Amino acid sequence: IRLGRGFNGIETSGTTVTAGAAALDAHVARKAAAAGVDLTFLRTIPGSIGGAVRMNAGCYGTYVADHLRDVQVVLRDGRLVTLSPAALELAYRRSTLPPGAVIVSATFTGPEGAPEALEARMADQLAKRDATQPTKDRTAGSTFRNPAGFSSTGKADDTHEMKAWKLIDDAGMRGAREGGAVMSEKHSNFLTNAENASAADLENLGEMIRKKVYETSGVTLEWEIMRVGEPAPEEAGG
Ligand SMILES: Cc1cc2nc3c(=O)[nH]c(=O)nc-3n(C[C@H](O)[C@H](O)[C@H](O)COP(=O)(O)OP(=O)(O)OC[C@H]3O[C@@H](n4cnc5c(N)ncnc54)[C@H](O)[C@@H]3O)c2cc1C
Repeated sequence: IRLGRGFNGIETSGTTVTAGAAALDAHVARKAAAAGVDLTFLRTIPGSIGGAVRMNAGCYGTYVADHLRDVQVVLRDGRLVTLSPAALELAYRRSTLPPGAVIVSATFTGPEGAPEALEARMADQLAKRDATQPTKDRTAGSTFRNPAGFSSTGKADDTHEMKAWKLIDDAGMRGAREGGAVMSEKHSNFLTNAENASAADLENLGEMIRKKVYETSGVTLEWEIMRVGEPAPEEAGG
């Protein structure tokens, strides 16, 4: 289901921001900033609010879980219900949305901030991302979860001990290539489509990385990217 224009509204009231599921994260951050509400963490995350809630998206220490007040969801039987963050059990890149449920909008409450200061913070974040990630390449973002998992929620999994990019570097796989797929030289946890990579190139390279990392560090990397469709030929029948 692709949610269209009827679902991309953004409304602010005091420190509350309600955004349709199709509203782009970046637009929500900017509109909130203009109204003096700090949802700046959404500024550099690609995608829209529905996906951000579903994946508990976040960066630079702040996640959806930190500021979500509630979500409006259409259940499989057609009922429109409001769910609390507790019901969604938001964790590192995870949530427990009821099966088949579609998020239609989400309401956030953010800290107050001066619009100019919030604009400046967003500009910093954009620059930081450009400096450290292959933002101009074709990529689906972080490819593997950081093994310990982390969030800014202060929960038990809130550690940064193991970074996927470091394990990939240690396995000598920065810049590794398979067909048109390349592990980015700029950030080794970003799988990129450098030259017309097929889905199989991308998936096979990812699996190669997982194997090498396991051999060098004993850690089994988990895909962060959700893969859909048929498995790559090498895995078929496995
Ligand atoms: C270059 C790059 C950088 C990234 N950086 C970050 C980052 O810093 N932090 C971070 O957390 N993520 C990051 N991501 C991952 C991605 O941006 C997040 O997972 C994102 O928030 C997903 O949003 P989307 O709209 O693209 O959702 P999609 O990828 O389309 O969907 C993600 C999941 O949510 C479900 N979903 C989407 N909309 C709805 C809805 N309305 N109702 C119910 N389910 C829905 C989909 O079915 C799917 O399971 C990055 C991705 C890229 C490409």
